[in-house]
Amino acid sequence: MSSADLRDLYQQVIMDHNKKPRNFREMEDANHLAHGNNPLCGDALVVFVKLDGDVIEDLSFQGSGCAISVASASLMTETLKGKTLEQAEHIYQQMHKQLTGEEFDHAALGKLEVLGGVKEFPARVKCATLSWHTMHAAMDNDHDISVSTE
Ligand code: ZN
Repeated sequence: MSSADLRDLYQQVIMDHNKKPRNFREMEDANHLAHGNNPLCGDALVVFVKLDGDVIEDLSFQGSGCAISVASASLMTETLKGKTLEQAEHIYQQMHKQLTGEEFDHAALGKLEVLGGVKEFPARVKCATLSWHTMHAAMDNDHDISVSTE
């Protein structure tokens, strides 16, 4: 795919997921949750996780933020739902590599590769990673925890 095509796709996907965020709801029976804040942009999200053993049975989020933070969270919930913790950890690591410009496992990211487009706007990378860090913190803790990009 040419870089112009990738840029178009990036904008389309961000717009679509921002307008209609997937899994945008509070989860009553979540067994893990975390609050994430990106003070630089004003993004504030809550990520809800329902783990069944080592499987992510349900994943959702709420809050408010810019288009990139909302779209990234939406894509994340869509991708990680139904995955095992091990698979989720692998995808999380690949997202991190993609956004820091390292080599990554393209097959593992699939559709998430469009989020790599955010690298053209370095100030917004934290918007894209917020939900991912928040999800990671939620998995690691059995109580509500707050994470900040600062
Ligand atoms: Zn933002």
